[in-house]
Amino acid sequence: MIDVIDLKKQFDNGFTALESVSFSIEKGDLVCLLGPSGCGKSTILNLVAGLLTPSAGDIQFSGKSVVHTAPKDRNIGFVFQNYALYPHMTVLENIMFPLTVGKNKIKKDEAKKIAEEYMALTNIEDLSAKKPGTLSGGQQQRVAITRALVQKPEVLLLDEPLSNLDARLRLRIREEIRKLVKEVGITAIFVTHDQEEALSISDKIIIMNEGVVQQYDDPQNLYLEPANLFVAKFIGSPIINTLEIKISNDQIDFGAFTAPLSVLTESRQKKKLIDGVYTFAIRPEDVQPVAEHGLVSMHAAENEVIGRDSIIRFEKNGTTIKSIVNLENTVRDEEKMLHFNFNKAFIFDESGARVY
Ligand code: ATP
Repeated sequence: MIDVIDLKKQFDNGFTALESVSFSIEKGDLVCLLGPSGCGKSTILNLVAGLLTPSAGDIQFSGKSVVHTAPKDRNIGFVFQNYALYPHMTVLENIMFPLTVGKNKIKKDEAKKIAEEYMALTNIEDLSAKKPGTLSGGQQQRVAITRALVQKPEVLLLDEPLSNLDARLRLRIREEIRKLVKEVGITAIFVTHDQEEALSISDKIIIMNEGVVQQYDDPQNLYLEPANLFVAKFIGSPIINTLEIKISNDQIDFGAFTAPLSVLTESRQKKKLIDGVYTFAIRPEDVQPVAEHGLVSMHAAENEVIGRDSIIRFEKNGTTIKSIVNLENTVRDEEKMLHFNFNKAFIFDESGARVY
């Protein structure tokens, strides 16, 4: 449905916001653009919408380039963070409005009928006569989404649509958005910097950093098979443990302890691990306190209870490792043997590329 090919954007001040971005989105998929502030998420969305012109590259909808197509002719719906509703119009008038202007405009009573059908879909029929200023943030965003959908666009673009809402409402509306997108079968791109939001709502996620796509994958793969150190650190909460290691003479030197190289599974090695310095990474659930047969004994310095689980901070000679355990197994101020699940660990070379 959407093909972005070698897209580059350099702004007038010379700043390159996108290097060479390529991805394809299948019809009916909900894809999140995820990354830290300033990585280029909104720039991509605005290029797809036609609000910005690319410096190089192409954007195609169903195989046809839209780079020279005006935004209003691209058949897209856009939902912004700040709702952008017309304050002097009622909810119904706001939703009818796009149907009653432009070259495809239809009669008022027809527009009203369609608007009411969509308001039933998004559950806002009872807000019909209200003005936006009297609505809550969540209600305003529902109106904005309905107004975008009523034009039956092929593509729905959402730029941080939940960031003005409180935590509880964000959860609810993100579920509603996913349900709605699937119900109407629309292709959607959703911009967020919140990994949890992206993981829960998306079919696939594009992880960006500094104008470059780091990985484009489904949520499970991003977590289980990160392509590089940036993705491994960006996805997962609590953040993945990272330790600088030195490999030499068939040994892994972790600083505070060592392990034979044979603890690593051969089939997981992406290439032969030659002697040198690497970053070892392991998720907190893959380091567990055990009664015996552990790799190293460390001191449980702190524990933080997070409901069902507890995060324990283990220390040894300046090395810190976090472990997440069931609450009943939590410890503090104790020495514990730790087992590392090397089958789930990762190793990255100095460029950040994954080698294990
Ligand atoms: P955020 O999550 O903070 O919205 P983002 O990932 O959406 O960030 P963009 O808005 O796409 O980031 O911006 C990418 C980079 O391009 C940023 O460094 C930004 O400062 C820069 N930028 C954006 N618009 C312009 C512009 N008109 N002129 C120059 N630089 C710009």
